[in-house]
Amino acid sequence: MFKSHISCRVCGNEKLKPYLNLGLMPLSNNLLSAPDEIAPRYPLEVLLCERCGLSQLSIVIDPVTLFGHYVYRSSMSEGYKKHCHDMALDLRDQYDLDAETFHIDIAGNDGALLAEFKKVLGHKTLNIDPAVNLIKICEDQGIRVYNTFWGMAAAKHLLATSWPLPKLITATNVFAHVDDVTEFLDAIKSVLRSDGVAIIEFPYLIDFIEKNEFDTVYFEHLSYFSIYPLSVLCGQRGLVLADVTHHDIHGGSVRCHIRKHGEPSTNVKRYVFKELEEGYNKIETYKNWAAKVDHVVRNFSKLITYSAGTDFKIYAFAASAKGNTLLNVARLTADDIPFIIDQTPEKIGKYSPGTGIPIVSLDKLVEDQPDFLVLLAWNFAEEIIEKCKAAGYKGRYILPLTCEVI
Ligand SMILES: [Zn+2]
Repeated sequence: MFKSHISCRVCGNEKLKPYLNLGLMPLSNNLLSAPDEIAPRYPLEVLLCERCGLSQLSIVIDPVTLFGHYVYRSSMSEGYKKHCHDMALDLRDQYDLDAETFHIDIAGNDGALLAEFKKVLGHKTLNIDPAVNLIKICEDQGIRVYNTFWGMAAAKHLLATSWPLPKLITATNVFAHVDDVTEFLDAIKSVLRSDGVAIIEFPYLIDFIEKNEFDTVYFEHLSYFSIYPLSVLCGQRGLVLADVTHHDIHGGSVRCHIRKHGEPSTNVKRYVFKELEEGYNKIETYKNWAAKVDHVVRNFSKLITYSAGTDFKIYAFAASAKGNTLLNVARLTADDIPFIIDQTPEKIGKYSPGTGIPIVSLDKLVEDQPDFLVLLAWNFAEEIIEKCKAAGYKGRYILPLTCEVI
């Protein structure tokens, strides 16, 4: 079910140092069928490799358990779809992409990214994703799916069949999920055209630290990457981290352009210099941060339990993985927050693991009009607020990491 993670997945260093211990935590996507069902719990702890600066979890849960049936749906977010559409326009201009481009999206989920790219390029695409429950959703949109995990076996299969070599490979919000990152990059290198580019996008470690985004820590996220460890890794695998740009999505993400030839841009060097100068490879930086996290959790927990003890009614929005970490670390239950609102059909009627809070549809929010709605999926706050207002919700909103009331 899980294995201990002993040595750094980038540089092999065995002296990994712990800095954030969030205790025993249930798997976020393991939604329960009854409120009193017991969800198995596993240790959720983050370690630092001081040699290359990679933050990583102390255990690895079996990926088939986590991703074989995946309840997260990318296309549920309009913000993400817009982000993908803008990305398609940018990459088209930067790399002369057109209708002849063959594009592989690794872990393309329900096809949200490819659907937006197809609108811009009208090109040939393939989604390589292990989730069985998402295949039909993609195929109904005309997106072909190769239902497997990305790695050397998938790459060899592509090379042995009649698929062309891709000029574009995208992998958004998946790199942090990967245990064997060297194989992941080797597999990309083996299929990418020599004039092609692989775009890897992930939430940026520096945003995670600066904005106290500790709730981004959950079992799917095995690594918390910054640019320095990625540049080390690319160098080891004979690839070039050619460019990096920063984007606001998911609390602050970086888009990394990986190529087979060329030199790292000045921008890449600037990121690496800044990370090392600011001590992102030193354990003290992270230990100081963990103390701040403790403070954030206590403040949030106090705000909710105090309000729940009064006449105020508080619900939460989105039975997300982030929300699962936050609610469990803050030790909240249905006594504090009686309902979580969600729009993913598969989640409604289930119970949040560890807290036993029932997951209900938007109708319940409009019907009950609670005084406050905690935005557990704060990364899509604007979009969620708009949606709730449009549906007729008149109460106020709480941003959990800052306890700000909107
Ligand atoms: Zn390392």
